[in-house]
Amino acid sequence: MPDTILVINAGSSSIKFQLFEIADGAGELTLSLKGQIEGIGSHPSLIARNKQGEIVTHRIFAVADLPDARAALGQLASWLRAWHDGAFPVAIGHRVVHGGPDYDTHVAVDDDVLAKLEVLVPLAPLHQPNNLLPIRAIRATQPGVLQVACFDTAFHRGHPDVADRYAIPEQLYLEGIRRYGFHGLSYEYITRSLPIVASEVAGGRIVVAHLGSGASMCAIRDGRSLDSTMGFTALDGLPMGTRPGQLDAGVILHLITHKGMTADAVQHLLYHDCGLKGLSGISNDVRDLLASDDPRAKLALDYFVYRAGLALGSLTAAIEGLDAIVFTAGIGENSPVIRARICRQARWLGIDLDKTANAATDAAGARLISSPASRVRVYVIPTDEERMIAHHTLEIFRRQRR
Ligand code: AMP
Repeated sequence: MPDTILVINAGSSSIKFQLFEIADGAGELTLSLKGQIEGIGSHPSLIARNKQGEIVTHRIFAVADLPDARAALGQLASWLRAWHDGAFPVAIGHRVVHGGPDYDTHVAVDDDVLAKLEVLVPLAPLHQPNNLLPIRAIRATQPGVLQVACFDTAFHRGHPDVADRYAIPEQLYLEGIRRYGFHGLSYEYITRSLPIVASEVAGGRIVVAHLGSGASMCAIRDGRSLDSTMGFTALDGLPMGTRPGQLDAGVILHLITHKGMTADAVQHLLYHDCGLKGLSGISNDVRDLLASDDPRAKLALDYFVYRAGLALGSLTAAIEGLDAIVFTAGIGENSPVIRARICRQARWLGIDLDKTANAATDAAGARLISSPASRVRVYVIPTDEERMIAHHTLEIFRRQRR
């Protein structure tokens, strides 16, 4: 049986996982299993699919049997072991949202690293504790297994000072209030794919639009991130499914001082009730909004496209020109309508889509969707953050074994 790498992406109510087999010699990673435990604490279920996409298990649990993430993790570990005939992965890679100011690369976790990541909890209170829980639980039961923390912030750590800062007193910057940027694993995956799928622009000036339920854009030049729409938290920048994107800080002050909202209530509003959902009052899902003839659905999509267009213009300024745009993630990969609307809004940049290539919904993999006359090339490239995590985990595993 081949060695495997397990990738864990633990959120507030779900634990997503992927198991990759390591092919002998070449070091190729092949996805062998993909699944998640979701509805932890409310309506827990475990579902997993094999490499052919066939469901290999689908179990519903009573809340009492899977009340929290720790219990879910225990269940997942015993199911995985049974499925894999008792074998344990040689290494486990974790998505960790925040690497703070210091980690510009992904790292093997030891007690020291874990303590440093713990200190970052206040910078990402909704995500970091969930990310660290499985690392700690696995260290307690399997202390010998290599665990690797892969950060959403790492790819952005080389931003120039002007893109890394807010105009606030230096002391606050030193305390960690910076423009970190997120979705770094996705941007890293796209950047590494470019020499293979779009070699003519790989070293150029590129804006990658990661448009999913979380959405951001990243300005890349010579394969390096120079700026991104997200900042201190994943709330900033583009409007998202349920997050507002860019918002005047005065709005927060108003909600607290004049409407008497607590910090918790404001946090809930900003993470769960704004964005497409808040604007439309209908749904956070672009598919629902496209299918609706309610004017509020139209307004929400108009706002999304307008803000994406503004961000594209501002990131183009950051990299002093534009050779290519890459669309990725749920909306970016699957919605020809939204891609076309964002490109139309940005036609002043000389963007011209090939309508047939853009509309080809059955096309899989990376593809060019701009016309030969377009001054900016436009691509759709499916992202794969989990493969990126597996790749880094394997690299560190190999380095440690040398
Ligand atoms: P992600 O977070 O990358 O998984 O993206 C999830 C989001 O992608 C959903 O909330 C939808 O809004 C969007 N999405 C997925 N499929 C489509 C589609 N065919 N058309 C438009 N939006 C889509």
